[in-house]
Amino acid sequence: VRPEDEFSEWYNAAIEKGDLTDKRYPIKGMNIWTAHGFAVMHRMDEHMRSEMVRTGHQEVAFPLLIPESEFKKESEHIKGFEEEVYWVTHAGKNELDIRLCLRPTSEAAMYPIFALWVRSHADLPLRTFQIVNTYRYDTKQTRAFMRVREIHFFEAHTCHADFDDAERQIQTDIAVMRNLSRTFGIPFLLSKRPDWDKFPGAYYSLACDALMPTGKTLQVATIHQYRENFAKAYDVKYENSLVKYVPLLLTAMGYSVEERPAATSGLTPSVAGTRGSERILVEVLEREAAAGDVQRMAAMRSGSPGGRVALCATAIPAEVAASLTKGGIEAWDPQHLGDLAVKSHAPPFQRHSYVHQTTYGMSERLLGAIVGLHGDAKGFTLPPLIAPIQVVIVPILAKGDQARIVDAATKLAEELSGLRVHLDLRDLRPGNKFYEWEAKGVPVRVEIGPRDLEQGVVTAVRRDMGAKATIPRANAAVALTSLLDLVQTELYARAESVLAAGTTTITALTATVPGINAFAWCGRESCGHSVEQGADMKILGTPPTGDAPAGKCIVCGEAAAATAYAAKTY
Ligand SMILES: [Zn+2]
Repeated sequence: VRPEDEFSEWYNAAIEKGDLTDKRYPIKGMNIWTAHGFAVMHRMDEHMRSEMVRTGHQEVAFPLLIPESEFKKESEHIKGFEEEVYWVTHAGKNELDIRLCLRPTSEAAMYPIFALWVRSHADLPLRTFQIVNTYRYDTKQTRAFMRVREIHFFEAHTCHADFDDAERQIQTDIAVMRNLSRTFGIPFLLSKRPDWDKFPGAYYSLACDALMPTGKTLQVATIHQYRENFAKAYDVKYENSLVKYVPLLLTAMGYSVEERPAATSGLTPSVAGTRGSERILVEVLEREAAAGDVQRMAAMRSGSPGGRVALCATAIPAEVAASLTKGGIEAWDPQHLGDLAVKSHAPPFQRHSYVHQTTYGMSERLLGAIVGLHGDAKGFTLPPLIAPIQVVIVPILAKGDQARIVDAATKLAEELSGLRVHLDLRDLRPGNKFYEWEAKGVPVRVEIGPRDLEQGVVTAVRRDMGAKATIPRANAAVALTSLLDLVQTELYARAESVLAAGTTTITALTATVPGINAFAWCGRESCGHSVEQGADMKILGTPPTGDAPAGKCIVCGEAAAATAYAAKTY
């Protein structure tokens, strides 16, 4: 475990020498993306995009400004963010009627519009994401990538017909995060945040924490289940269909519902069921019934002697209902449906349901985690999958032999076109070039000098291990590709073993260690706070699937309800 001060100094130097950011912009916490830093971030964004597309999301871009009136609609949400938002109060010399905030996150920007986009079941699930800047006036000490006030932010927002479908989305998000974590070289601990630390307005929050070399954790992603909380505040709802409801009602009434009802008198009813020897046919209209429907129902009636026949519609005018009843056909309007539901203990039919929502958020903190996890005395190694330059070729020029070596290096670069290769032909000493590319995190360096040429080889140097290997020139493309794969895998594996080694199970409050402490917890907030105060740590959360550890709560000694994780955090 590295001391915080030493880490801080190292981190700041590493990102500066590595040319990831320029912190000289005159607003604290708002830094400049340099070309190299932004190229890395863009690669990461592209991996997020492709995972989102793979899982059925569409990319959108909402405006930066949110009217105060919209921002205020969800009370927990506004409470959670009011200390942190920037306000736009003037346009030119005029004070605005309604203040506008710079989005700290985009719920209040998106959900009033989702209310317009979502009309019926057919519009669900709605899966969107955007990668935009968000703004939070964080009052803690700023630190490039890890704690900034202008945030490069990924946010996915989804709407679902019900809680279960939203839960399935969360499982998908976790799987996406596992893929991305391998790509980014960031193993993480997934936990369900305690209630007092969930996202403002969420039903529950899951978070992914990386363990930094100081023993403190860094939150790199969050996934939230909102249930209907925001949908109620922003009126995001969809129209339910009777065709979906009637089979549920019939089941509650004791009928077994037919998968594919047979035609009766040449007419196929929407829904049919049997209860003992009794058959029921229900024609369902997602509209108001009209006089013209009566004749069709009469035909169905005559084709099903002895059984029940019903017409179900969003409304049934009195005169239509009277003709139906006269012909022995039941008229199921919403009120009658309500009566049937009460009698058979079925859930009532609701014309509209609120959507269930989820979000998934990440930011440039991921890059801060990469620097921290894969750092060393020379800076950091970028995982090959996100490195803008995977292989840098540095020719070792000998006097009088320069043209031949430059030529060989150029040919090699052309041959490696399947990789992201940079040929460094600057008039600098090789040692200076080595130093610069190592600082920038380029995962593999290839050297070609006179001796390599003679022997028909190139020299490959791994940035992470410093190990040199001689590769036959003829085999360079294949060998370098597998070397990059190996670096990618080993970076992750090393960080993963550090995470495992940094997670300790403790049985006494006095026994906390740097890193992640796992312990038995009764689940009570007061005991959680005792741990936080006593150990000067934060409760990260509990396993998201729940567990029932043996043993007693580390604070009160009562039966444990869950394993909890605690750590010092960034
Ligand atoms: Zn307790």
